[in-house]
Amino acid sequence: MSAPAGWEMVIGLEVHCQLKTRTKLFCACPNRYGADPNTLVCPVCLGLPGALPVLNRTAFELAIRTGLALGCEVAAETKFDRKNYFYPDLSKGYQISQFDRPLNRRGALAIDAPGGKMTVGITRAHLEEDAGKLIHADGEEAGGFSFVDFNRCGVPLVEIVSEPDMRTPEEAYAYLMALKSLLEYVEVSDCDMEKGSLRCDANISIRRPGAPFGTRTEIKNLNSFKAVAKAIEHEAHRHAGILEAGGRIEQMTLTWDAVAEKTLPLRSKEDAHDYRYFPEPDLVPVTAPADLQDRIRAALPEPPAARRERYVRELGLPPYDAGVLTADKAVAELFDRLRAEGLPPKVASNWVMSRLLAVLNDRKLGPAIFLPKVTRIADIAKALEAKTITNQVAGELLAWVLDSVETETVAARIASLGLAQVSDAGALEAIVREVVARNPKIVADYRGGKPSAVQALVGQVMKDTKGKANATVARELLLKVLG
Ligand SMILES: [Zn+2]
Repeated sequence: MSAPAGWEMVIGLEVHCQLKTRTKLFCACPNRYGADPNTLVCPVCLGLPGALPVLNRTAFELAIRTGLALGCEVAAETKFDRKNYFYPDLSKGYQISQFDRPLNRRGALAIDAPGGKMTVGITRAHLEEDAGKLIHADGEEAGGFSFVDFNRCGVPLVEIVSEPDMRTPEEAYAYLMALKSLLEYVEVSDCDMEKGSLRCDANISIRRPGAPFGTRTEIKNLNSFKAVAKAIEHEAHRHAGILEAGGRIEQMTLTWDAVAEKTLPLRSKEDAHDYRYFPEPDLVPVTAPADLQDRIRAALPEPPAARRERYVRELGLPPYDAGVLTADKAVAELFDRLRAEGLPPKVASNWVMSRLLAVLNDRKLGPAIFLPKVTRIADIAKALEAKTITNQVAGELLAWVLDSVETETVAARIASLGLAQVSDAGALEAIVREVVARNPKIVADYRGGKPSAVQALVGQVMKDTKGKANATVARELLLKVLG
């Protein structure tokens, strides 16, 4: 990714994060994804005349927890405001949000960007309700209609607004990764982007280095962090093209077309005054007294940065390992479970990083699938450490553990299938002689001055023993037999 030559990007991000509550922000409807359309609604979240909102205490506390995790100042007293606008997925004609007295402000998030560690300022993190969802169906049966599902109306959101502190798409990406990780760690949201629990809008402008900020545009509908980075880069080049041709950037809102990989104008940008914000008359101001904040702070789960440092300090892991293991809370839990099974930290770390994460990538699964199998995975790792089995057999056993629902122990499996490593020179020598006799060409290569040819013979021994031979012993024997 690169900036247009001679220009610097200025990037700020707005992240909407759905809070993990049982019910919606102002009514008792369930906050649940995936129900049949328009089954989780009531007069309050539909905004029917006379319905009155009541604040969800858990949502309020989770929003404070989010603010504290981001190092924000939490307002002792906060209030709600109506943001008025029309859209078919918002039957009320307004959204209850927070305007001039947000719950949290002035925080910071430390990130690991490609250029090194940096801090991104958090302008504010306020509480608001989500809108519904439009479904633009294609196909004959839809008859050109769009559908609306109000189930999401009133789901609690925290909107986290960053300062325009990022200068490259990579920094924006690193910020989003760090933010998602933090929100997962402090258990305020499941952050499932496919379900829309975490959504991002990007604000971007460009300037000559050192010059004042340029006019910004806002990109919406970014459904993955990679899309955010791509859209920012595309938009920066679009700005540069206009400015270099003597044009002017118009403040507007755009959408990202992920297929064509370009931004398309959505509407001219509205300013705050266009929304005619006014204090929500149906809700009283709320206080977050110091003792409530203290209680929430005391119960704040360990954030990823602290866990990363603890892994380095207490377990002696290299910082790189600690970073990989703590990026995703579920991966860190898996690592801790393997250690609890008696694996030394570095062994557990190697297993997670070099084997288990590879399986997850291949199979597109989450780390939770390993949890019921963690004892047997640790047993394989121990057998490999003790040189009871070879590396190849360890891989096969891991695949067996993942794909079977059997409860046979690893030790029983090794015994019943005879998978134990063969290190006994006496037992291997006959096989080695056999392999030498069967491969005269490779032997000739070796004797003709190509020492690496011996590796092909080791491979043959491994094959003949179904991966059970101790490769070091096999190699020594081969060298001896070959003279
Ligand atoms: Zn409702």
